[in-house]
Amino acid sequence: MIVVGAGPAGSVAATVLAQGGRDVLLLDRTRFPRDKACGDLVPQAALSLMLDLGVSDAARAACFYPVRRLRIAAPGDRAFEVALRAGAGLDSCVVRREVFDAMLWEHAKWSGARFRVARVEEPVVERGRVVGVRVRDESEIRAELVIAADGATSAIARALRATRTPDRHRAVALRAYVDGLELVDHLVEVHYARELLPGYGWIFPVDGRCANVGVGMRLDLFRRRNTTLRKLLDEFLRLPSIAPRLGPSARVHDVLVWQLNFGSEVFPRIWDGALLIGDAGGFVSPLTGGGIHNAMITGVLAGHAAMRALAAGDASRSTLRAFERAWRRRLWVKLWGGYWAQRWITSSPQLLDGVAALLACRQRICGSDVARLHGTHSPRPAPGPASRP
Ligand SMILES: Cc1cc2nc3c(=O)[nH]c(=O)nc-3n(C[C@H](O)[C@H](O)[C@H](O)COP(=O)(O)OP(=O)(O)OC[C@H]3O[C@@H](n4cnc5c(N)ncnc54)[C@H](O)[C@@H]3O)c2cc1C
Repeated sequence: MIVVGAGPAGSVAATVLAQGGRDVLLLDRTRFPRDKACGDLVPQAALSLMLDLGVSDAARAACFYPVRRLRIAAPGDRAFEVALRAGAGLDSCVVRREVFDAMLWEHAKWSGARFRVARVEEPVVERGRVVGVRVRDESEIRAELVIAADGATSAIARALRATRTPDRHRAVALRAYVDGLELVDHLVEVHYARELLPGYGWIFPVDGRCANVGVGMRLDLFRRRNTTLRKLLDEFLRLPSIAPRLGPSARVHDVLVWQLNFGSEVFPRIWDGALLIGDAGGFVSPLTGGGIHNAMITGVLAGHAAMRALAAGDASRSTLRAFERAWRRRLWVKLWGGYWAQRWITSSPQLLDGVAALLACRQRICGSDVARLHGTHSPRPAPGPASRP
């Protein structure tokens, strides 16, 4: 059994298979720990799943920054806050992917998966059936089943799929780290500012001093905007609600751009001898851009489907249909509903303003909320221009 890609999807699938007593080879083109373009926001349910798989809670508690509230700023000057769901003694967290992914990868190895650094170039297909992968600078590696977890630019998905993902089911996003930005403790922010529409910006504190700051937009709409993500980030940081929060020594660094494939696109994720999980299968939420939890869920479901297929000695598409049924039951309503909710948000800033006004008044946080950011939490750096690379 081969799993290609050791991000959350691949490491979780390899863990489930290794814990089920299977011989599993996990391949990734890079060594770990490695960075990944991401907002770094890991929902509580993903952390809970991580602990269910046996990852040590002590390691998690040591370096994850808990977040308890989400603040949504509408295109006008209204904003409202919602509590983030906590459960099983866990909050959602912001954690650098360098740390999070390495923990899952270590756990897959600890559970018994073998790991090798190898860049997979394409699947090996014989008589319409995937029988292994072709690796750069090596010959083929053969296996009864290949699980493709090689992310949004998956070489395996590209070779197997008959169609390309339409731009309306994709997004592009940029993440940077910003030091010296005034933050509210344990609060994540999403900004639907007019300047960024039909996209949005986020500020997710990694700790009290540094934030993951980013912008993202659906790809078809981005192409029409005739701009770059870097320009959008600069516009975001210049907003009247953000610029005063940047201290004199503010610094923007580690800028990365990547793409996201929404799970709302209808296409098969299974072939004879192969299945696609995580971003390789396009399981990102079209509403939030979040994909870590869905990647982990598809890793678990694929692990179980693969074990059943191997036990039956049959890794054909008909046996792997169990995986399609399982992920659809678990994720489809949310993915499809999220697609339409996201279309509504990007097409109607006035409606978003209306909802925000209602909620903001209920919470007595009407009007620009910057004052609240300044009063109560992290010490305020003196205002000044941000230094940018
Ligand atoms: C800017 C941005 C912000 C985001 N913010 C969030 C967020 O805050 N919260 C959230 O939940 N989700 C977020 N997402 C989505 C999230 O990052 C992905 O959904 C998630 O990483 C999917 O995990 P994965 O394991 O499927 O893929 P990945 O994490 O991309 O892992 C794929 C792995 O495959 C390896 N690989 C790739 N090609 C090959 C090859 N040819 N051969 C061998 N190995 C290969 C890569 O090295 C990598 O390790 C964001 C995405 C972007 C782009």
